[in-house]
Amino acid sequence: MGVIVAVDGPAGSGKSSVSRAAASALGFAFLDTGAAYRALAWSVLEQGADPEDPKAVERALAGFAVEIADDPDERWVRVAGTDVTDAIRTPGVTAAVSGVARVPAVRLRLNDGFRARLAAADPGVVAEGRDITTVVAPDADVRVLLTASPEVRAARRAKELPAEDRHDVARSIAERDARDSRVVDFLEAADGVTTLDSTDLDFDGTVAALVALVREAAGLEPVS
Ligand code: C5P
Repeated sequence: MGVIVAVDGPAGSGKSSVSRAAASALGFAFLDTGAAYRALAWSVLEQGADPEDPKAVERALAGFAVEIADDPDERWVRVAGTDVTDAIRTPGVTAAVSGVARVPAVRLRLNDGFRARLAAADPGVVAEGRDITTVVAPDADVRVLLTASPEVRAARRAKELPAEDRHDVARSIAERDARDSRVVDFLEAADGVTTLDSTDLDFDGTVAALVALVREAAGLEPVS
């Protein structure tokens, strides 16, 4: 089995882009678990079903097949052969995803798929998602909670979504954190999880800090 790096953290902490860049620098695979939840939410909406109705979500789950790029330098997600890479990032899907992620059968099924991907990783994988360090891979070689202050997280998200009002972005981050944290506690580091606070770091600095942490914890040679 390869080196398993688990990264979680709240919305806007940069965990997705930072984890992807760190995976690329390390020559590891990348697993974006949020993309799987988003793809299922997309399927539910595509079928005209209600993402807040657990029974409807379970029905969509029964025929759900998602493929997600392994290579951190590629970025595609497919549901039953349809490319949904951009479709899963729309505000409609983002609003629907927490409802879908709350359904226990969804979490069990997706977690099985994630664990299979982690077990197959060679020489390693960086996996990111809100319950990766606690539920999916509590035995990962390196477990990191990536955080940033709420203000910095809102500002970063607003930059990614320039069309949206900054206050709306801050509010929607706070709401999504609150809804998600009813399902998994990702705001506090669990035992054995290292907190990486990126409030005062830029993107490259955060990636470098994560790569250094992985190299040290996994006993890899530092890059000079
Ligand atoms: O990370 P991302 O913003 O793409 O995640 C989208 C949503 O998927 C989260 O808001 C959360 O509801 C759900 N999710 C989850 N567990 C994960 C990853 C994502 O519940 N491991």
